Amino acid sequence: MAAYDDENIFAKILRGEIPCFKVYEDEHSLAFLDIMPRATGHTLVIPKVRATDLTDIATDDLGALMGTVQTLAPKIRDALGADGFMIQQFNGAGAGQTVFHLHIHIIPRRAGESLKPHGTRMEDKDVLAKTAETLTAALSA
Ligand code: AMP
Repeated sequence: MAAYDDENIFAKILRGEIPCFKVYEDEHSLAFLDIMPRATGHTLVIPKVRATDLTDIATDDLGALMGTVQTLAPKIRDALGADGFMIQQFNGAGAGQTVFHLHIHIIPRRAGESLKPHGTRMEDKDVLAKTAETLTAALSA
């Protein structure tokens, strides 16, 4: 595994150097919309610690991250009227990882709806902004 690169895009988002559609933040983690969603409401949850992938994070920090995922995922499902949610997480380029700061995908699922391909089609910014507004309200409640 390559060393953590502080110039990766999620590190820049964490430092506020580039914008994101933020939906939630706590002392351990940040959650924002995937700009190429596989389904409406596709959210990424990242730890604030430097970690390339699942093998590169202390157990306590991973526990805190997954605690946030466990709290957010059903709220995202319910806020968007989805039927369920899927969790995805990629480790290594060969496994499909494209951003090398650990992240957990929360993907709301609706019965009968096919998933869009992973990371291929940029969503309209107005759609992302509206979804972020809905989720920010739901996740702060
Ligand atoms: P992975 O293959 O798990 O590394 O996925 C990285 C994800 O990050 C993909 O689903 C991309 O659509 C998403 N992504 C890439 N750049 C950004 C960005 N600037 N803001 C939000 N999501 C992004």
